[in-house]
Amino acid sequence: MRQFLIAGNWKMNAGPKEAKALADQIAESWEDKDTNSEILICPPFVSIPFVVKRFRDTGLKTGAQNVHTENNGAYTGEISTEMIHELSCEYVIAGHSERRAYFFETDELVAEKAKKISDSGLKPIVCVGEKLDERKNDIYRDVVKNQTEAVLELLDSSDASQLVIAYEPVWAIGTGETATPEQAQEMHAFIRNLIADEWGQEASESVRILYGGSMKPGNAEELLSQPDVDGGLIGGASLKEESFSEIISIAE
Ligand code: PGA
Repeated sequence: MRQFLIAGNWKMNAGPKEAKALADQIAESWEDKDTNSEILICPPFVSIPFVVKRFRDTGLKTGAQNVHTENNGAYTGEISTEMIHELSCEYVIAGHSERRAYFFETDELVAEKAKKISDSGLKPIVCVGEKLDERKNDIYRDVVKNQTEAVLELLDSSDASQLVIAYEPVWAIGTGETATPEQAQEMHAFIRNLIADEWGQEASESVRILYGGSMKPGNAEELLSQPDVDGGLIGGASLKEESFSEIISIAE
């Protein structure tokens, strides 16, 4: 059985002050919850220490939204896996569609990041997903296949239980539009099959595949009840304690 992962991606929101307040609300409402899911928040880098501090001894986890592939050196503005590790993070997001679009991250670079994250003992959450025109032109499976296979080639089947893939159709991110449960399930099963082809059935069963793209309390139940949906990567709705907590309760 795969454990649900409910992950909040705060993106470039919640600086230290706001992050402290939000982490506090989440931790407080978490106190009286009995859940089997793994709960994760990925704040902006500068807010990570504050969230880690508040989440200490609660079971709530913290992750980063991006990383560089080198350990250190002359890479102005970048952060390494070692630094993220030192902050007691457990997960790192790689290849979010916003990074692919605005920072020109290629499938190859995203795969290298996933490898670096994995090799350093952190867990990669690799985002894949097609743009609206790619869905309309019926090439969305090819797009997701290329994105996924680039990662599977660099990683190894022994990494399967540590690997998380987030299927995030770009047309559903921050738009209020969501993939239907059927569309999500089709793509999650498709991704799991790609993993099975590359790494074998058993390994494919241990990779968690999250859905991302306007997940909210109103649609979480249907999406999370799909057999190959193992949780959510949640943007907008993770910035409000009530909606994030509601999704956590629905995941039960
Ligand atoms: P959203 O973002 O929930 O605001 O659509 C999801 C994501 O980009 O990870």
